[in-house]
Amino acid sequence: MTATEKPDLLREYDAFQARLRGRRPAVFLDYDGTLTPIVARPEDAVMSEQMRECVRRLARCCPVAIVSGRDRKVVEEFVQLKELQYAGSHGFDISGPLATMQHERARKALPDLDDAEGALERLLKEIPGAQLERKKFAIAAHYRNAAPEDAPRAEAAVDEVLQAHPSLRKRGGKKVFELQPDVDWDKGKAVLWLLGAMGLDEADVLPIYVGDDLTDEDAFKALKGRGIGVRVGPVTDETSADFLLKDTEEVRRFLEVLAERLPNASA
Ligand SMILES: [Mg+2]
Repeated sequence: MTATEKPDLLREYDAFQARLRGRRPAVFLDYDGTLTPIVARPEDAVMSEQMRECVRRLARCCPVAIVSGRDRKVVEEFVQLKELQYAGSHGFDISGPLATMQHERARKALPDLDDAEGALERLLKEIPGAQLERKKFAIAAHYRNAAPEDAPRAEAAVDEVLQAHPSLRKRGGKKVFELQPDVDWDKGKAVLWLLGAMGLDEADVLPIYVGDDLTDEDAFKALKGRGIGVRVGPVTDETSADFLLKDTEEVRRFLEVLAERLPNASA
């Protein structure tokens, strides 16, 4: 089903409410493009105080986890809510009051990532505007600030480094290519792991995942048949999400309405 055929969550809230009836929600939130608008420089993606208050309030009513491609520590610093569970590096690195885990095989790929970082840095230097970002469990080649016709060059550079490092894999996102440990693990598997580790793998729990990008599709797929996927932003491709929200402001309104209708909302 294409994205345009999926219902808008705020306009079809009754349909969502019907799925929630009799169950308690567990909310999983992507960060960039979901809790903050996409910005030209990733380091500028600061969360608004209004959004923070909204997430804080929701976390008093139900379990909330942040699931991001960013390093866990970086996203923790942006969000600044100690009561939440955090999964960074697309789930390779998890920490919080209920569960802590670093993916063993991803850790073993760290020396290869170090090596690939140097090689990719040399290649990206040749492309004006292209930006290398080293994260703990990934190397990102951002081409948002490069000329559009240079995007294939950025991908070719990533592919060249990938060839020399078979323990890594390539993933794409919004104006970015990433090299990551080639481990069978993604945001979807991380969410399922979290449900177990947080004691939420129960029939009366409704997992809700909100995200805006390709890597979030893994989570939508993992939750098919047991939870609800919400895709944020203008979607032109196919999505496995159940509902759509237009932008981060609509995400905030949804989280607000969800919290309002749960017990403890006034706490
Ligand atoms: Mg995102």
